[in-house]
Amino acid sequence: MSKFLSGELDEIEPVYDPKRGYRYETVETFVEEPPKAEAFLDELYEAGILTRELYDEVVFCPKCNSVCISIRYCCPHCKSFNIKKSCLIEHVKCGYMDVEENFRRGDGLICQKCHDELRKPDVDYRRAGTWCTCKECSKSFDIPVVKLFCRDCHEEFTFEEISIRNVYRYALREEARKEAAEGWVLIPSVSEFLSENGFEVKSAAYLKGKSGANHMFDIVASKKENTKFVTVIDLATSADKAVTEQPVIALFAKIYDVSPNAAYLIAIPRLNDNARKMAELYNIQAVEGKDQKEAIESLKEKITRTK
Ligand SMILES: [Zn+2]
Ligand SMILES: [Zn+2]
Ligand SMILES: [Zn+2]
Repeated sequence: MSKFLSGELDEIEPVYDPKRGYRYETVETFVEEPPKAEAFLDELYEAGILTRELYDEVVFCPKCNSVCISIRYCCPHCKSFNIKKSCLIEHVKCGYMDVEENFRRGDGLICQKCHDELRKPDVDYRRAGTWCTCKECSKSFDIPVVKLFCRDCHEEFTFEEISIRNVYRYALREEARKEAAEGWVLIPSVSEFLSENGFEVKSAAYLKGKSGANHMFDIVASKKENTKFVTVIDLATSADKAVTEQPVIALFAKIYDVSPNAAYLIAIPRLNDNARKMAELYNIQAVEGKDQKEAIESLKEKITRTK
């Protein structure tokens, strides 16, 4: 997210690796295993954080899953891929049609029927499609049969047998960019304010709960003179009118397990009514502000009051 926001990353484009297929190298650095990069991006797409656009398709071998697949154009009669592909040419003036090799005389093209020279394409002659000849059975045809050959396990497959997967290029959704940008500037300024006011600050930080699970908070602060007094802060922004109950519920689930001394939810621009009621019920201090300046002012007021 910070790479997107700093402009370091504009979009996440797959890079082709001849052995493993498409890879998302920028993402591989922060997922546990490289093959999970794609699943991770898909999750972010499903969650509405990223947008995606079809980039390419990957063909897999149905037997060994390899992506090293070559396309074979085969003779429809004997199925051999030992074919010769030629261009069909028509002499416009006399209507004679044949494959290009039969017109070729040195560098030029001469009609075999009327012996005129074919000079200008689309005027003297036109290309009338392709014509293939099988070098095995000598039969001719215009449309070859497509087969796929796995370069790893050396099996040959028909189009019906192979599996195809879409590969996407991802970008940050504009609404997500706005929401994240708020947080990106807000978290450091909140952390700074807390440090100046005698807190030890960590962001983002994990706290272990009674259940044994680790929970992440945007900011975890503890008073320097009393390190046992722990304050957790989460941030929720909304590009729409108000932040919903969802981040309130998420924060409640974490504090229920972690039991900090104080919990704040910074909501920009504000919480909706239901979310505000819920926060009160759950003992979460709602800090609202239409922008980060207002939010910090409001947090200052609340924190100094609890001192
Ligand atoms: Zn053939
Ligand atoms: Zn001719
Ligand atoms: Zn294979």
